[in-house]
Amino acid sequence: AKENGKNQMVVYTSEINSLSMERFKMENQLRKALERKEFVLHYQPQYDLETNQIIGIEALIRWNSPDRGMVSPVEFIPLAEETGLIVPLGRWVLEESCRQMKTWIDQGISPMIISINISARQIQQKQFVGDVKMILEQTELPPEYLCLEITESTAIKDVEISMNMLKELGELGIKIAIDDFGIGYSSLAMLKQLPITTIKIDRSFIRDMDEDKDDAAIVKAIIAMAHSLELTVTAEGVETEAQRQILLNENCNYVQGYYYKKPLTSEDCYKYFQNMH
Ligand code: C2E
Ligand code: CA
Ligand code: CA
Ligand code: CA
Repeated sequence: AKENGKNQMVVYTSEINSLSMERFKMENQLRKALERKEFVLHYQPQYDLETNQIIGIEALIRWNSPDRGMVSPVEFIPLAEETGLIVPLGRWVLEESCRQMKTWIDQGISPMIISINISARQIQQKQFVGDVKMILEQTELPPEYLCLEITESTAIKDVEISMNMLKELGELGIKIAIDDFGIGYSSLAMLKQLPITTIKIDRSFIRDMDEDKDDAAIVKAIIAMAHSLELTVTAEGVETEAQRQILLNENCNYVQGYYYKKPLTSEDCYKYFQNMH
């Protein structure tokens, strides 16, 4: 039995080693991918729930790897965050998104908001506001068309820092949304101290809303409280007509999800805009 335990120990250690080897390999591949410009953005439309008018798009990153194919952000964003690679990667996302929206506006589409996911590590950079300002100047995208999506935990990690940072961004005219709302520990009252414009209800609540009374109650409460604090609400992950109906009854403002449109490549997104006219 003792020997057996020893063997297991050996296996265990080598598993850890191969795991960290795998991470190390992945980290290097991500660095190379950034240099080789293998990342792409897909865009998912967001709509006004009442009018069905498109109001914006969310930029969602993918890694178009020659070896692995199209890799989902859930497979590489956590590692990019741990290693700090998210800082240059996030800067690329910001730049590419602003450039793309400005190009589309110049091509004649009606201007709309481009939403971008921002990680905690990015906000913690002293030069973050400066970077955003510079990118807006370089791309000539008007700040009112940019929305930064940050998660609850990012916003409350260091309220003092985020407060000043978000205030500066808000004064530029940039919109701030709280992403994945409801799964963290912050309260709406606390968030109200931050200069935010929108909250996005996490998909997990929307998903089970039509069958789970608790989830429906949570969604209802979030919308009511957000409205009483004069914030707008976006529901993410809307997949069914039943979900749409509930949200409509609760006066949710904006929606995003497969029921409306899946994320589109930039080419398909431009075609979609053109067909709307
Ligand atoms: P998120 O910000 O909550 O983005 C929404 C995710 O839900 C996206 O997954 C989107 O494709 C998916 N989705 C949208 N509608 C539906 C629906 O109706 N049903 C279902 N099942 N899913 C839906 P995606 O593109 O795989 O992104 C996953 C996460 O990766 C994002 O979650 C975000 O946290 C992160 N992410 C994506 N792009 C970036 C980025 O540029 N920077 C950072 N820091 N994170 C990013
Ligand atoms: Ca998001
Ligand atoms: Ca989410
Ligand atoms: Ca539930």
